[in-house]
Amino acid sequence: MNDRQAKLSLPVLSTLESDGTRRWLRPKLSKGVWWHRRRAVAYVLMVIFVVVPYIRMAGKPLIQLDITARKFTIFGYTFLPTDTLLLALAMLGAFIAIVFVTAITGRAWCGWACPQTVYMEYLFRPIDRLFEGTGGKGGKPKQPMSAPRQIARMGVYILLSMFLAHTFLAYFVGTEKLAVWVRSSPLEHPAAFLVMASTTALLAYDFYYFREQTCLIACPYGRLQSVMLDPQSLIVAYDYTRGEPRKKGKHLPEDKAGDCVDCNQCVVVCPTGIDIRDGLQMECINCTQCIDACDDVMDKVGYPRGLIRYSSEDALKKKPPRILRARTAIYALLLIGVVSGLVYALSARHGFDARVIRGKGAPFTSVDRGLISNTFSMRLVNRTDSPQSYALEVLTPKTATLDVFDDSQLELQPGEMSLVPLRVRFPSSLTFGNGNVPLTLLIVDGNQNRHEVSFRLLGPRQ
Ligand code: SF4
Ligand code: SF4
Repeated sequence: MNDRQAKLSLPVLSTLESDGTRRWLRPKLSKGVWWHRRRAVAYVLMVIFVVVPYIRMAGKPLIQLDITARKFTIFGYTFLPTDTLLLALAMLGAFIAIVFVTAITGRAWCGWACPQTVYMEYLFRPIDRLFEGTGGKGGKPKQPMSAPRQIARMGVYILLSMFLAHTFLAYFVGTEKLAVWVRSSPLEHPAAFLVMASTTALLAYDFYYFREQTCLIACPYGRLQSVMLDPQSLIVAYDYTRGEPRKKGKHLPEDKAGDCVDCNQCVVVCPTGIDIRDGLQMECINCTQCIDACDDVMDKVGYPRGLIRYSSEDALKKKPPRILRARTAIYALLLIGVVSGLVYALSARHGFDARVIRGKGAPFTSVDRGLISNTFSMRLVNRTDSPQSYALEVLTPKTATLDVFDDSQLELQPGEMSLVPLRVRFPSSLTFGNGNVPLTLLIVDGNQNRHEVSFRLLGPRQ
């Protein structure tokens, strides 16, 4: 190999060769303490993902994101399209919680709970090992896989992706509808079939081909790590104060050499192909495989474990840990504020929403015998889980009368919304002076939930 060829064969990024081709990673498996812990968590998460669509809470699905009906049910609460504030608070709360947890625990999500890592490391990679074997150096197979084996492996990938895609779909359409669809022709539900087929294709592509590139390129959470972490955040770190200078090939006296024997085991197990000894890197998903690999090496050479361990940049510099610091305190306060707002907004919800929408055109019309008429619409939303009928009554002014043009619009199914046209007639003398008078309407549903709505009737000033 000449110099140019040698240079071209060197990687420039952990997954990119210097000639621009993909550097395929086949990380070796290190079955250490952390791998066993993560595997237990991963299996629990996989089971949770599959069973959640089947769980009911107060007669409703635990989680169902019904996009076509624009209804989101989460832990027994159903959010309707009118719940913009609640949804905004819930999403803001989730975002702050992620940032807050990341500031303290670093990329624990990536290593322990992200579906990409969980399924890649504990479902699809074991399938690879099953078909390829693990005999070669650095986890590589001893010989190329035969064509039938490759086809069989692809088949397993597609079947599993299909199963995951169906489970994914169940979160949106519910298990009952999904069961009916599975037993009927795709032509009867082409849109849903297309969603399932494209999700299957996407999952198979991701786990078969794209793999660690999802973490390195596509995931926005991974990109934002540099701003979410600080020197106190928990990371998987190589203790350079203990490990350096490395022993290999240097013939250092025992008291001058560090504990790293430069065996490269921490690199060959890394699913993103990096060398943790180069310091904190965006590519590190905190999967702990390098901890296990290095602990294993330390055991063999008779040194204490923990040359690579959970730590922080400050801890490596022997600075004391500080959980309460400016950014964590601010995130915690923001989170408390948003969660309090969300709890208050949830507890202040009625069994229904009622809102007056003034009609277009003339603000009022004069009708016979000195009466004025205002027309408007009332937007009613039934938030309960049972059909409801609503009764409307004018509380003030007493001399006003209310006309409902179509009583059937006061009968609503669960989650249904209706725009009810209304007319109020009142003596023109009420608005003399400033041209308006306050009106209060009482709305009562079948469960005796009461809600008062106030607005202004318009009339002549004179
Ligand atoms: S550096 Fe270690 S913890 Fe980070 S991704 Fe690689 S093996 Fe996992
Ligand atoms: S596994 Fe440990 S001893 Fe081996 S190269 Fe990595 S840090 Fe050094």
